[in-house]
Amino acid sequence: MTIPQDPVLCIDLHCHSTASDGALTPTELVNRAAGQKVTHLALTDHDTVGGLAEAQSAAAENSMVLIPGVELSCLWRSHTIHIVGLDFDLDDAGFREALDRQKSNRWARAGMIAERLARLAIPDLLERATAEAGGDVPGRPHFARVMVEAGVVKNAAQAFKRYLGAGKAGDVKAYWPELQEVVQWVNSAGGIAVLAHPRKYKLTATKLRELTADFRRAEGRAIEVSTSGQSSGDLGFLTELCMREKLLASQGSDFHFPGAPWCELGRIMKMPDGLEPVWHHFRQVPGIDAPG
Ligand code: MN
Ligand code: MN
Ligand code: MN
Repeated sequence: MTIPQDPVLCIDLHCHSTASDGALTPTELVNRAAGQKVTHLALTDHDTVGGLAEAQSAAAENSMVLIPGVELSCLWRSHTIHIVGLDFDLDDAGFREALDRQKSNRWARAGMIAERLARLAIPDLLERATAEAGGDVPGRPHFARVMVEAGVVKNAAQAFKRYLGAGKAGDVKAYWPELQEVVQWVNSAGGIAVLAHPRKYKLTATKLRELTADFRRAEGRAIEVSTSGQSSGDLGFLTELCMREKLLASQGSDFHFPGAPWCELGRIMKMPDGLEPVWHHFRQVPGIDAPG
């Protein structure tokens, strides 16, 4: 079925606020999206829906439609994979519990990072990183900032290069649940599971096809065909993959902070005609007509 995209709509279904590792508060994020003429936005913070209530108020102020969203970490053959959940029931108790478990995983990981970095002799590292994260569970960027403040490194880039990046002491893998389980959480809450930014996992084309097929078998329903920083070759490959697996097509900037010219809210390569947009399958979204 070919449904052309409405040129009046500007849809961004993947971005982050201070509720996870984004730089803007939910309000600032929504205001910025409004400035970029975004009409439909999903705030998809890592493993939390903590920013959605504030984002919803800001969206209402801007006559923008906010779609419930979250980005969930999981494992597929020991690779960490990200699943975006969209349009789920925010009050679903099972889903809330699952998010709490994800948060415990993150705390365990933060504790482990602090332990591994203990030899840097920064006092109260975990406490300071937690404060840096606004009282929430700190991730590696928060540890990096504390390390800069403590004068252990010159800047965040150096913190990653020496201590936090791949293969370094602070590169602690979290114990994420399996892909199938996470897709099931989203489905049980009435949402749509989306395979996020497939090109970011640095998988070979063959592996990526296998991942997508497994995701489909697990009843995942959509794949991000268009995201920031992709080449038109990537777009072509993902379009083909989307069609082959008969998945719905999603798009999102994965915006985290201002000032990165390659990544801006609402500024995503237009997905090719002939794909079935995921937003045609949202349950109740004003301004988007369901297919006839
Ligand atoms: Mn992130
Ligand atoms: Mn991600
Ligand atoms: Mn993301």
